[in-house]
Amino acid sequence: MIIDFRSDTVTKPTPAMLEAMYKAKVGDDVFGEDPSINELEKMAAEMFAMETALFCPSGTMVNQIAIKCHTQPGDEVICDESSHVYQYESGGIAFNSSASVKLLYGDRGRITAEQLKAAINPDDNHKAISRLVSLENTSNRGGGSCYDFEEIKKIKAVCKENNLALHLDGARLWNALVAKNETPKQYGEIFDSISICLSKSLGCPVGSLLLGKNAFIKKARRIRKVFGGGMRQAGFLAAAGIYALQNNIDRLSDDHLHTKEIANVLIKREFVKYLLPVETNIIIFEMSDSLSAPALVTKLKENDILCFDIAPDRVRFVVHLDIRPEMVKKTIETINKL
Ligand SMILES: *Cc1c(COP(=O)(O)O)cnc(C)c1O
Repeated sequence: MIIDFRSDTVTKPTPAMLEAMYKAKVGDDVFGEDPSINELEKMAAEMFAMETALFCPSGTMVNQIAIKCHTQPGDEVICDESSHVYQYESGGIAFNSSASVKLLYGDRGRITAEQLKAAINPDDNHKAISRLVSLENTSNRGGGSCYDFEEIKKIKAVCKENNLALHLDGARLWNALVAKNETPKQYGEIFDSISICLSKSLGCPVGSLLLGKNAFIKKARRIRKVFGGGMRQAGFLAAAGIYALQNNIDRLSDDHLHTKEIANVLIKREFVKYLLPVETNIIIFEMSDSLSAPALVTKLKENDILCFDIAPDRVRFVVHLDIRPEMVKKTIETINKL
């Protein structure tokens, strides 16, 4: 039994999800004729009370399309230094949008309205035009940290005053919604565009959605084609998404419980110096001098437990749909014996 905590992207479709995929009605989505994709886009838009949605192959693609649609070359995107859009999308903001980036140093990936206010460029020829703010909820590098919704509202007010668009990288928004008892509609009301992943905590093999207004998504559909993301009979993938939205959201509280159980054991071990507060399905901890991060990863691997060293002194565990209670039990036993 391999216990894989490397990422919530490693999940495999369950028999029930595969059955939904197998039975999907499909058509050519570039022609707008795939009934399953149309259904998924409509379903997601309704959940968030946003006008419409666009199905894409990856979370990176939906973020990059959104940034491309919101900006002109030379404009500035404001985001936290740890953001996925900046750290893990292969320099895509520069490559795809020729946009500049202003990095803010927030608390575990979360910026404040005050920080944002101070970062907006004045109307001055020397300066890039501040155009777009991108938030991430939950924050991956922040250890699955969640925004306080009141702060998001304040950030929105600053965006409004300064004519800035507001994008949400919600690859793990589902985890935040469950952890904070929030609704998709709250987010739909505030953001100009939202990216959500189906292939992370919801257990789909492939797929992400971009949500926004009709005119915005019309433009996004064109950019998706330019980026090579216009798929044909991808309704088989959309059917997995529909299944996931109907069945796999509420169960995230189990993942959060499992995450806390494992964290509670880790924190007692002398090789752990500091553990980031655990809010959802991610554990990030700093190693003490007695053991390096790669050494711990190797030791765990010898016990069939996989995780990543995300820095020489930092390790990350991500809990997900395929981590069953008996795996949590074995992980806890192993950590206690190390
Ligand atoms: C994984 C992730 C993405 C991108 O997802 P891919 O489907 O792997 O491209 C975007 N944002 C965040 C915060 C993520 O964790």
